[in-house]
Amino acid sequence: MLRIHNTLSGQLEEFRPMVAGEAKFYYCGPTVWDFGHIGNFRSTIAADILRRYLKFKGLRVTSVMNLTDVDDRIIAKAAEAGKTIDEYTARYIDAFWEDFDALGCERPDVAPRATRHIDEMADIIAKLEQRNHAYRSDDSIYYRISSFPNYGKLSKINFAGNIAGGSQRVDTDKYEKEDARDFALWKAPASADEPAWDSVVGRGRPGWHIECSAMSMKYLGETFDLHLGGIDLVFPHHENEIAQSEGATGNQFARYWFHFEHLKVEGETMSKSKGNYYTYRDLIEKGFTAPAIRYFLLSVPPRKQLNFTFDALRGAEKTIASLRDFRARVQEARTESGRNETISATVLQALKDFEAGMDDDLNTSVALAAVHDLTREVNTALARDALRADDQHEVLDAIARFDSVLNVFGESKPQILDEEIQRLIDERQEARHRRDFKRADEIRDELAARGIILEDTKDGVRWKRK
Ligand code: AMP
Ligand code: ZN
Repeated sequence: MLRIHNTLSGQLEEFRPMVAGEAKFYYCGPTVWDFGHIGNFRSTIAADILRRYLKFKGLRVTSVMNLTDVDDRIIAKAAEAGKTIDEYTARYIDAFWEDFDALGCERPDVAPRATRHIDEMADIIAKLEQRNHAYRSDDSIYYRISSFPNYGKLSKINFAGNIAGGSQRVDTDKYEKEDARDFALWKAPASADEPAWDSVVGRGRPGWHIECSAMSMKYLGETFDLHLGGIDLVFPHHENEIAQSEGATGNQFARYWFHFEHLKVEGETMSKSKGNYYTYRDLIEKGFTAPAIRYFLLSVPPRKQLNFTFDALRGAEKTIASLRDFRARVQEARTESGRNETISATVLQALKDFEAGMDDDLNTSVALAAVHDLTREVNTALARDALRADDQHEVLDAIARFDSVLNVFGESKPQILDEEIQRLIDERQEARHRRDFKRADEIRDELAARGIILEDTKDGVRWKRK
């Protein structure tokens, strides 16, 4: 039973999808104005871990991650470079997917781009106008927060009283608004050369928040299971998504909200504006490897802050090397047939601890501790030659199971080639002719450990892969 902390209720809750056995989630993806830093990728990896864990639990997952490919920064940068928005963002979109794949993340089912969903956004804005949740001012359109009494239900910010002069960060659009809290849904172009689209609500460009309402509801429906994002997005972005979506449809938007804590550097959030960041590419240039960066970023539960240090990253490199070495040793061990009950029990316990950790709000620290417990015990057994063929399979199966979520062990050893199988079978036949049955059995066991089953028939030896 997976429990997650739902920002909406402020409680740890059992995750019950709307349709049993199916989970649908939306994750606020990158703004493709530059290369992503590893703080952004910490959140991306957290979403990947959740996606993989839902599948581990047997659920069918539909995931959507948007690309924000239009915003004020992108417009300014593109203009500076003398490029269109599409020309400017192409490079960063490609780079994002390269880094995403290299970091071992599974692609979402849909990765919609904001610029390709302008009509869907305009349709929601038109509905909001009809329902009196939006108003026009200087050809721009704003959301009227006073029309949505539930505003603040996610962030728990109390909006009673005069917010305009308060300390909360409010939208900083420069146009005339009824209330300082109101935010832009649609922005009229300030000049003729500013990028703009024609739509049912006029000519202009969308505000940031509306894109996520439009793209999530388009692909997941008006009400869906789960909405994810970094903790910085709770307010105003996600609060505004709720106001827009529920204001337009009258139905509940996302049922669970899961927010990831930040990657920090000496107590400060890693961010472009603070200049305290590393991109994935910076770290690769420094000689670090993708699996170690992934391991480091997932080593602390997503709802806990993680502090970046080079020491921790060097530690992750060592851990990855030892995990991979461990799996190779288990694969290559020449085991006798049978089973060692102590090891079977250890494997079962590790799988149980792993799942209990992940079930507890994706506690990856506990899950990793279970993996390390298993490696320690099995290493001891290997040193004492106590590992048997059945254990060997169980350990390798458990690693594959852990890795379906963690994805840090890397590719498993390439499958044994046909020629090598034939060579071992020939050697076994020779051993039998010499009446060296010990050697013949060893070869049979070695092949069995590598997934090859031998059948002695009257026409000779046949083999098949398990
Ligand atoms: P952005 O590209 O700024 O739109 O951010 C993409 C995602 O990264 C969002 O879900 C942010 O909440 C998240 N994010 C930004 N900075 C950090 C950080 N230092 N640690 C973890 N996640 C972050
Ligand atoms: Zn969003």
